[in-house]
Amino acid sequence: MAHIILDKQALFHNLDLIAKKAGGKEKVAIVLKDNAYGHGLREIAALAQEYGINKAVVRNFKEAQSISQYFPYILVLSDIPKEAMEFNFAINELVALQHFPKGSKVELKIDTGMHRNGIKMEEISEALEIIKKKSLNLAGVFTHFRSADELSSELFWQQSNWQEAKKKILQKCKALGFEKPRFHAANSAALFRLGCEDDFARVGIAMYGYLEMDEVFEAPRLKPVLSLWAKRVARRKMKKGDRIGYGGDFEAKADMEVATYDCGYGDGIFRSLKSIKDGKILGRVSMDYISVASSKDEICIFDDAKKVARELGTISYEVLVKLSPYIPREVK
Ligand SMILES: *Cc1c(COP(=O)(O)O)cnc(C)c1O
Repeated sequence: MAHIILDKQALFHNLDLIAKKAGGKEKVAIVLKDNAYGHGLREIAALAQEYGINKAVVRNFKEAQSISQYFPYILVLSDIPKEAMEFNFAINELVALQHFPKGSKVELKIDTGMHRNGIKMEEISEALEIIKKKSLNLAGVFTHFRSADELSSELFWQQSNWQEAKKKILQKCKALGFEKPRFHAANSAALFRLGCEDDFARVGIAMYGYLEMDEVFEAPRLKPVLSLWAKRVARRKMKKGDRIGYGGDFEAKADMEVATYDCGYGDGIFRSLKSIKDGKILGRVSMDYISVASSKDEICIFDDAKKVARELGTISYEVLVKLSPYIPREVK
């Protein structure tokens, strides 16, 4: 089977840059949703804890449970628990408040302009009143920026909505006798553009070594953490005119040596992929195999997801999250 190597030094290097930009390790919550962007949830959780990170963000309750030993603070982005728990849960729309058990720690997501989910600005007062009435615990308030990675004034417009939301919330919290909740807004791109003036930033892609920002921004020197490798399972000499794989798409133009490696679309690489770090794919990508003009025992499929993403017309995030959770992960 293919295997993944996680570069601990690269991860710690990225966390150094992130913590410095945010103003300290305690101002960083790492985003571990979708199997830590394909890197491996528990592997990255353990490394980040070792580094000194104490906050994590996940997608659902099951993910939170599997890393609860590593972080005192975990925010679950989209799930509703059956009973009150130690984790914090995001509120993605007003009616959701009705479904949370008494005592739950909730964090209001505010829609400051992305219009995907979150409490509308004009619903803030009502949301806080429901929280009081239902004896929920307001632990945090946050928002998400839709254009932090693009050069436009949009980020600043959304940021000013966020300032207004925070003001409104602080006033209402005072009136209801709530303590000040935690505020957080920045993702990776917003952190590197604006810094972090809230309690912490929620950092995903930058920790893994990437930023998908417009070129005009000066990018920090992040290092990719993950590389994908495959072992040779067979090799053969091909005669001129022999064809390889499903449909026989590749035809040898001359006698050549070809090897087949144990990585395919079942591992999460795309069928449309044509080149890998250590060569060119000959013919079609199979579920568990690719053929390459190589004689190496082991080849690197990629160590820079952005290069793969550029070839496929997508972003590093998509290339990474598609990696199968079954692939063995090793930290080096
Ligand atoms: C995924 C996500 C992030 C992290 O974004 P990056 O661009 O990977 O840093 C932050 N906040 C929320 C709400 C998210 O869903």
